[in-house]
Order: sequence, then structure tokens, then C-alpha cells
Amino acid sequence: MTTLVGPELAGELRRLGTFDAEVCMNCGICTATCPLGIDVLPRQVMRFGLLGLDDEVRRHEETVFSCLLCRACEASCPAGVHITGNIRVLRRWLLEKEAV
Ligand code: SF4
Ligand code: SF4
Repeated sequence: MTTLVGPELAGELRRLGTFDAEVCMNCGICTATCPLGIDVLPRQVMRFGLLGLDDEVRRHEETVFSCLLCRACEASCPAGVHITGNIRVLRRWLLEKEAV
């Protein structure tokens, strides 16, 4: 499978709201805390957006929309990343792409 890198994606996401995935230290505490127990949620889906991996964000659309927005991850994040805000931005981007 070819992975397309779109350097403009982070800009597109920031146009849709505050997206602060760059603050993430990739420690994994959020994933360990998340009640859903999905490997890529939430840190990896945020990183896909940060790195401009458009097709990876699309491939994990179901995961992005499965987030309960419970904020358990935010409560334990040592870097204070606005995780649910970032998830909302990724959702907006996915919905916008679907509408085109
Ligand atoms: S807990 Fe915070 S700093 Fe650690 S991986 Fe998750 S978002 Fe990044
Ligand atoms: S807000 Fe979403 S990613 Fe964070 S712990 Fe809850 S379900 Fe998991």
C-alpha cells in the first residue's frame, strides 16, 4: 500500500480548530488509559494528522469516530494535550472530505 504524505494536512486541521498534537511526547499513557483499548487511539491518530498522513487518517475514520470524548486520556496526559479537541478537529476534517 502506498502511503501519501500531505504536508498541507496540519494546516487544514488548524483551520478547523485548535490542533496541538505537536505537544505530545508519545508516552502512550493516553492509550493505556482509554477504555476502548484501541492501539492507535488517541495518540497515533493525532500523529497521522500532524505528519500529514491523509490516507492513514481516512483509513482510521471509524476509530476517530469511535472515541467517546470521555476525556479520561486528557486527565492523565502529562503534556496537557487537548486530545478530545484534536479528535473533534480530525472528525471535522473527515466529514468535510466526505462532503466534497
Ligand atoms: S498521554 Fe499525552 S503526551 Fe502521552 S502520548 Fe498521550 S497525548 Fe501524547
Ligand atoms: S476521550 Fe476518546 S481517546 Fe480519550 S480516553 Fe475517552 S474514548 Fe479514549
